[in-house]
Amino acid sequence: MLRLGHRPAHDRRISTHLCLTARAFGADRIVFPSVDSSLEATVDDIRERFGGGFSLEEDPEWRPLIREHEGPSIHLTMYGQRHTDALAEIDAGDGMLVIVGAEKVPADVYDLATHNVAVGNQPHSEIAALSTTLLDVLGPDELYAERADAEIVIEPSDRGKDVREVDRGG
Ligand code: SAM
Repeated sequence: MLRLGHRPAHDRRISTHLCLTARAFGADRIVFPSVDSSLEATVDDIRERFGGGFSLEEDPEWRPLIREHEGPSIHLTMYGQRHTDALAEIDAGDGMLVIVGAEKVPADVYDLATHNVAVGNQPHSEIAALSTTLLDVLGPDELYAERADAEIVIEPSDRGKDVREVDRGG
């Protein structure tokens, strides 16, 4: 996915949650035009303990990134098409790129993206819009998928905490 408009002082907490949400709901990477080192530290720490291959990447050339993306590019915006209509056409196997803003996104994003998709036409949050989109397209299994090289595995439980620590032999 691509995160536009991150402002280090203002958006650090929400961008951190966006990274963790993207990872937990099945995205394999998140790209920022400029990476904030404190986000990197949090993502590294979660990946180290909970496993998986999620990456945080920097690419200032985000317009070519969208333009040259081979699968669908889905810009999430309250002005877009209903997600129930738009996402029904998307096949997860096509390698989608999901784009979210923080502040107002540059106007050309609406043209660069192959789809402008709304999760409702009310303003809310990029985290809610992203999680709904990933859940719709990828389904719920991603949320419970085993992550390679995890040190900590949480077993679903209806009471208490069932946490397994994995001996990685190191
Ligand atoms: N004032 C900003 C604007 O006019 O674009 C609102 C930004 S909103 C806090 C941050 C991001 O959340 C948006 O760029 C968009 O990606 C996402 N978002 C917010 N509401 C949404 C909705 N109803 N559907 C889809 N995405 C939404």
